[in-house]
Amino acid sequence: MGFRLSDEHRAIRKAVREFGENEIEPVAREHDEEGSYPKEIIEKAAELDLLAPSIPIEYGGPGMDSLSSIIVTEELWRADPGIGSAVGSRGFGSDMIKEYGDEWMKEKWLPRIANGESACCSCISEPAHGSNVAGIETRAEKDGDEYVLNGDKMWITNGSVADVAVVMTKTRSNPENPHRGITAFLVPTDTDGFEPTKITNKLGIRASDLAEIKLDDVRVPEENIIGELNEGFYQLMDFFASGRSNVAAQAVGVAQAAIDAAVDYANEREQGGKVIKEYQAVSHKIADMAANTEAARSLTYRAASQIEAENDQLATRFASMAKLFASENAVDVADDAIQVFGGAGYVSDYPVERYYRDARITKIYEGTSEIQRNIISDQVL
Ligand SMILES: Cc1cc2nc3c(=O)[nH]c(=O)nc-3n(C[C@H](O)[C@H](O)[C@H](O)COP(=O)(O)OP(=O)(O)OC[C@H]3O[C@@H](n4cnc5c(N)ncnc54)[C@H](O)[C@@H]3O)c2cc1C
Repeated sequence: MGFRLSDEHRAIRKAVREFGENEIEPVAREHDEEGSYPKEIIEKAAELDLLAPSIPIEYGGPGMDSLSSIIVTEELWRADPGIGSAVGSRGFGSDMIKEYGDEWMKEKWLPRIANGESACCSCISEPAHGSNVAGIETRAEKDGDEYVLNGDKMWITNGSVADVAVVMTKTRSNPENPHRGITAFLVPTDTDGFEPTKITNKLGIRASDLAEIKLDDVRVPEENIIGELNEGFYQLMDFFASGRSNVAAQAVGVAQAAIDAAVDYANEREQGGKVIKEYQAVSHKIADMAANTEAARSLTYRAASQIEAENDQLATRFASMAKLFASENAVDVADDAIQVFGGAGYVSDYPVERYYRDARITKIYEGTSEIQRNIISDQVL
């Protein structure tokens, strides 16, 4: 096992850090308060190839390795989780097109996603089925050389801004093995019957788009099946490790942002005639925040290096461990940052209350903390 940041990794971090400081941080609070989608920042991020780092060069992307993609996510979230999410999730779901799509799908959609013209969304969760993906009920029925999709998708990132959707459906009822019988479809979002409703009452990452999507007799040609009929769940499994390590990187980024803010404040705030960092209760708290976040970062990079090495079993294990540890740490660190700020941490004059709200999602999506513990315990017991 080993990971090393190359000069190229360090250069990517520097470029994204500068982008975050110049373009994202100054408008982060405004976008959070308004819940507004950062279109202009997305256009600028496209110029730096930050929207879908893993799309290969031949399809117009930068073709970054796993560790580079992780660093991009970490730095975007360090600048601001809400805008970082909006920028970093533009290509959400496009891995399925990249790995399993037919050539026409890749040529049509991947360049547009990479250059910012189009956004993608990944429609898996439903109102009644989240953690248990195999339980999904959205149906795709064959009708001549078309399929007709009906169902309800819930909590879909980019749901109201996406131009193309990767929709997971049931194509065969198979009570004995519900995992077999799921198929992925490519659905342009301007297809009749694709009806998103934006969700606006989120706790955090408020600049990021979220929607519920009704699929009402959505017709797509048979050629829009991504990969193999009935094999969609197994295809999806290929992306669990990269998705989870990406969320771990989000968590590391927001934790680092909270630490940065706490350090600045501890250096300037005076109480009882000295700056508060002089109180060991404060300095030790920040020491713990830094040590735990560095541990989360190491685990996250280790997961990325296992993905790069295509060591599937270790990638699954480390990605779940990284996602679990980094997300729980991010919420704890953001909470501690508020404590360092005292009353000032509880209002939106400083960003730490926002980090606290934003960090919370990392314990929920891409498999909750409880699901990660199930996966880890299955591997280690
Ligand atoms: C902001 C946001 C963005 C999202 N983006 C997307 C997206 O783009 N695409 C998409 O498809 N989905 C997306 N999701 C959905 C997300 O993946 C689900 O919310 C998540 O998987 C949990 O599912 P659930 O909400 O149905 O909770 P449930 O599965 O109902 O879980 C409720 C509780 O029960 C626990 N639980 C459930 N099953 C088990 C079990 N087997 N063992 C132990 N505990 C269990 C859970 O851990 C949780 O605490 C998003 C959600 C949010 C909030």
